[in-house]
Amino acid sequence: MFQINDNYLQLGESYLFSRIADKVKQFTATHPDADIIRLGIGDVTLPISAAVTDALHRAVDEMAVKETFRGYGPEQGYAFLREKIAETDFQRRGIAITPGEIFVSDGSKSDTGNIGDILGGDNIVAITDPVYPVYLDSTIMRIGRSDQTILLACDEENGFLPAIPAERADIVYLCYPNNPTGTVMSRGELSKWVDWALEHNSLILFDAAYEAFIRDKEIPRSIYEIEGAQACAIEFRSFSKNAGFTGVRCSYTVVPEALKVKTPGGEEVSLHRLWNRRQSTKFNGTAYIIQRAAEAVYSPQGQKEVDEMVSYYMQNAGMIRAGLMEKGLTVFGGENAPYVWMKCPAGLDSWAFFDRLLEECHIVGTPGVGFGSKGEGYFRLTAFNSREKTEEAIARINAWQL
Ligand code: PLP
Repeated sequence: MFQINDNYLQLGESYLFSRIADKVKQFTATHPDADIIRLGIGDVTLPISAAVTDALHRAVDEMAVKETFRGYGPEQGYAFLREKIAETDFQRRGIAITPGEIFVSDGSKSDTGNIGDILGGDNIVAITDPVYPVYLDSTIMRIGRSDQTILLACDEENGFLPAIPAERADIVYLCYPNNPTGTVMSRGELSKWVDWALEHNSLILFDAAYEAFIRDKEIPRSIYEIEGAQACAIEFRSFSKNAGFTGVRCSYTVVPEALKVKTPGGEEVSLHRLWNRRQSTKFNGTAYIIQRAAEAVYSPQGQKEVDEMVSYYMQNAGMIRAGLMEKGLTVFGGENAPYVWMKCPAGLDSWAFFDRLLEECHIVGTPGVGFGSKGEGYFRLTAFNSREKTEEAIARINAWQL
């Protein structure tokens, strides 16, 4: 009889968003007229911009003509996009990342989940709690639930920034600006992680999906702003949230040439070579038309439009923050990230607060406990709804008898 990868049986039920959907469904069945405002899911609402749309149309037309039609492209991405990324996101900011170190992909979710393919099964993997669930679940899929996975608590006391593990950790996932807490890591804090990784020959998997939302010029937007990071970190970037590509699908992963590891036999191996091998075998490239769309994000018009979209969401975030604080609630994040993380008032747990917010304000958010046990007692609101709905949500919270 064939066998399955029974690590999958060790995964917790992914019930967070389905439980939310069930609760909303039940509520609307008994309150059909309720005008529900969704500040829960991390999906964008503004459409893709004009520069991107024009590029998509042009690329579709090229594909429909014999002379300009393209079949399989390079698995790593087209040079036109990798060059724009390297130049705009790194070289112009004084970071020496080359186009060859960029791997274009169809989403950071895939890449943060798949990166484990090139990592050994005996590593001790450190993951924050609360966390974007993909890191934990994809690790369990690979090595099962075991004491090889250690959780780094992020709470009010440490400002939602994990302490460097006292015990051995070979791999650590860091995500800043953070989903779900909306907090950021300063240059000093990130430098400590890079120094630690270099000292212990550990690998940092740095998810920078929300870097475009950083407003504070002092906060690093890339881990490669920190000296030495190219020898110890892989960085994941996405066009999903800055350019509205959640449904278009394009992202990239940076695997620097300087990132090397020694095998037990003493052979030096490049992670760039391994990831290249993995991608060439299991991935046939991001669609040409989508890469042209991503390229348009880097045009002057595209950059302007993306800035406007990000500003729009960040104004929403600012309104949510201010509204909650006015209500006397304890609030984190939302200044350099599209997520506002609040402490549930009056000792309510995350789900109890969810129920009250839904029933009394007709607003849907995300219970913090859904991101890990340390999220219990917290709640996530997102800035991705429209200005009007966000304003209305804040007005309702203001008038709420909590
Ligand atoms: N990383 C983080 C921290 C996210 O919150 C998300 C999406 O919500 C992703 C990655 C996935 O991004 P993509 O749409 O590129 O797969």
